[in-house]
Amino acid sequence: MKINFNPDFSRLKKTDIAVIVAVVLVFVSFLVAVKMLSDTVEKHYDNEIIVCLDAGHGGDDVGAVSADGQRYEKDDNLTLTLKVSEELEELGVKTVLTRDSDEAVSLKDRCKKANKKRCDLFVAIHRNSSPTGTGVEAWISKREKDDEKTTAKTLVSELSTVMGIADRGVKNGYRDKTANNYYINANTNMPSILLEVGFITSEEDNAAFDENIDQMAEKIAKVIYDSLQN
Ligand SMILES: [Zn+2]
Repeated sequence: MKINFNPDFSRLKKTDIAVIVAVVLVFVSFLVAVKMLSDTVEKHYDNEIIVCLDAGHGGDDVGAVSADGQRYEKDDNLTLTLKVSEELEELGVKTVLTRDSDEAVSLKDRCKKANKKRCDLFVAIHRNSSPTGTGVEAWISKREKDDEKTTAKTLVSELSTVMGIADRGVKNGYRDKTANNYYINANTNMPSILLEVGFITSEEDNAAFDENIDQMAEKIAKVIYDSLQN
């Protein structure tokens, strides 16, 4: 038997062509959607805990500065963040760092990174600034995510004990009325906490920071680890 394959496209009706075009379009958009999804969210195994640690500021953005102008917040943030990361990895918790050197990273990119990796928790490490302030505090979103408030409270109280400075508690929103929430708290998909680890403008807080930094890193890691069990 001879098969004569000689399609005559001129015989196709307009409706047939429309159907073919529609099928091709659906298929192409499906491929595009798959590609976009794989770009946005990476694979995350259920038993794997990932914490995003965000060392505030960096590069040209030095953050707050000490009274004598010698000390930059960006450096303290990075030093403590790297130590916390080491402690967490030792506890078997995977960490993602928004920066691991003195570089400028936009707030948008910081959040994007955490969201893409589907982190379980986001902790931003900062130092506070004011002519007279002292102590440790944390900021979370006005719309609280999971039990971030409990974790933030424990972090602040443990740090205040280790550093021997005041516990200023956990606050919702933003420090003044110019925004509803801190950018990172508003734009991360997971519980997120912004820690203010003492005032860089206070000599007492800076001394406490320098003397106890290893123990502080250990405590922060332990509180994070405990909060992510179960
Ligand atoms: Zn800061």
